[in-house]
Amino acid sequence: MDYQALADLLFPDITGTIADFEAKYPPRSLPEGAVVTRIAPSPTGFVHLGNLYNAIGERLARQTGGVFYLRIEDTDQKREVEGAVEAVIDAMEYYGVKFDEGALANGAETGAYGPYRQRQRRELYQTAAKSLVLRGLAYPCFCTEEELQQMHAQQEAAKDNYGYFGKYAVWRDRSLEDIRAQIAAGREWVLRFRSEGDPSHTVEVLDGIRGKLHVQENFTDFVLLKSDGIPTYHFAHVCDDHFMRTTHVIRDESWLATLPIHVQLFDTMGWQRPVYCHTATLMKMDGSSKRKLSKRKDPELALSYYREAGVPQEATWLYLLTVLNSNFEEWYLEHPTASSREFTFSLEKMSTSGALFDLEKLDHISRDYLSRQSAEAVYDGLLAWAKDYDPALAERMMRKADFYRAAIGVGRGGDKPRKDYGSWRDAAAFLSFYDPETFAVTDPIPERADGEMKQAILSGYLETLNFSDTAEEWFDKVKALTDALGYAVQPKKYKKNPEAYKGSIVDVTNLLRVALTGRQNAPDIREISAVLGEEETRRRITACMEA
Ligand code: GLU
Repeated sequence: MDYQALADLLFPDITGTIADFEAKYPPRSLPEGAVVTRIAPSPTGFVHLGNLYNAIGERLARQTGGVFYLRIEDTDQKREVEGAVEAVIDAMEYYGVKFDEGALANGAETGAYGPYRQRQRRELYQTAAKSLVLRGLAYPCFCTEEELQQMHAQQEAAKDNYGYFGKYAVWRDRSLEDIRAQIAAGREWVLRFRSEGDPSHTVEVLDGIRGKLHVQENFTDFVLLKSDGIPTYHFAHVCDDHFMRTTHVIRDESWLATLPIHVQLFDTMGWQRPVYCHTATLMKMDGSSKRKLSKRKDPELALSYYREAGVPQEATWLYLLTVLNSNFEEWYLEHPTASSREFTFSLEKMSTSGALFDLEKLDHISRDYLSRQSAEAVYDGLLAWAKDYDPALAERMMRKADFYRAAIGVGRGGDKPRKDYGSWRDAAAFLSFYDPETFAVTDPIPERADGEMKQAILSGYLETLNFSDTAEEWFDKVKALTDALGYAVQPKKYKKNPEAYKGSIVDVTNLLRVALTGRQNAPDIREISAVLGEEETRRRITACMEA
C-alpha cells in the first residue's frame, strides 16, 4: 500500500506535520511537579455537579504552581446549546474556580495553547490523523450504519466480542484502488485506527487516584475521525491533552471503559501519557439500592439546583470534599473556621467508587457552616442570592439593612449557635416573620393557652412588659404571670399532675412565640422583641388578642 498516496487522497489540504504543532505548542516551562489540568465540558447547557467536582484540579494546579484551563469539547454540534459556554464559565466563577487560560465568554479565549474550542482545532486533528495514515496505522472505512448494525447483531448471535476488528474489519486491508473508487463515488467514510492490540494482553496504567490499573489491551479499530472530519472524543482528547501539555486528566470514572483506547493512542503517537485520575461517579440511594445520579430523574445533579436553592458555595464545597475525600472531614474538624481552600488536597485520598450523595447531609453541613458565620456575612450572602432569586426580599433587605442584620444576628455566636437554615431560600422563609411587611401567623395558638386564657396571658404580659428589663427580670415576670394564671412554672410538675394546672410555662411562652413570630418554633422571645422594637412587639401581641 502506498500510504503517502492514501494520506494525500484523504487529506489533500493538510500540508503541515506533527512537528509544526510540536513547535507551536512547546512544553510548558513550569516548576518541577507542576500540575497542568483542565475541565473539558461539552457545551450542552447542562452544568453538573461532576463538572464542579472535577474542577478540584484547580486546587492541584494552585498547590503546585501549575495551570488550570477550560477546554470546550464541542465536537457534537447537535448537542450544542447557545450560551452553554457562558453558563459553564459563570457557574465556575460562582464557585470561585479560576481558570488561567482557555475559553472565555462570547467566543473569546486566552492562552498560548488554543484554540480551546475543539471545532476550531480541525487542522491539528487532521494533521495527527494524516500522520497515522502515513504510518499505515489508520484507514478509511465506508461501512454504512446498517452494515455496522448487522455486524453488531452477528457478534451478538455468535457471542463474540463487540467492535470493529478481525474478520469484521472489512475495510482494514482494502486496496488503494478500492478506496479511490469509493471516494470517487462520493461515499462517506470515517477514519479508523488500525489496532495491533490483542484482547488477551493487559496494559498497565497508573491512575493518580486508583493506583496501578491493569486494563485489557484495545483490539478494535475504533473511529478517529467521523465522516464530517471531526474527531471522536478519544482522538480529540489525546491530541488536545498532548498539545495543551496536560499533565493530569481528571475525569469521571465512566471513562475507564475506553481508557485502553486512550493509552494505546498516546503510546502509538509516541507521546507521554498524562496521569489519569478517574473520579468516583456520584450516586444516590433510591429505596434500598444505590444508583448513579441521573440528569433526567435527579434535579440535584444540576449545579444550578444549588445556586437556585441558595446553598452557600463554601457549604457545597465542604460537602463535596467530605463525600469525595477520605481525609477532609478529619481536617475540617480540626480547622472548623478555615476555608476549604486551605486544605491540602491529594489525589490518593479521593474516593475510588460510587460516592453517595445525600441532600440531607448537605443541608446538615450547610446549617452547621452558616451557624458559624457572622451576621454580616450571612446578610451579604442572603442579599446576593436574593438579588437573583427574590428581588422583593433584596429590596427590603437594602431598605432596612440594620434591621435585617439584627434579625440574622439572633441566636448567633456562643457555643451553641442556632442552625435554623442551610440555604438562602430557607433563610428567606425563616426570617420572614421579623419584617412587618412579610409577617404572617402560620401556626395555631397552643390549645391550653387559647380563648380566655389567651387574653389573660397576653394582657398580663403587656401590662408588665418593660424593655429595659434584664433577661432575668423579664423571665421572673413571665414566671410570675404563669403562676398567677394557674400554669405550672416547672413543666415537670404539670406532667406529673396535669389536673392541678391549666398547662405549663411552655404553653405560655409558646403563645408569646406565636403572637410575636406567627410560629411555635422560633428563637428567644426577648431577643426577637429587641429586634422588633417595643412598638411592633406591642402591636403584634395586641393583634393576637384581637384575632
Ligand atoms: N467532554 C468530556 C465530558 O464532558 C470530558 C472528559 C474529560 O475530562 O476528558 O465528559
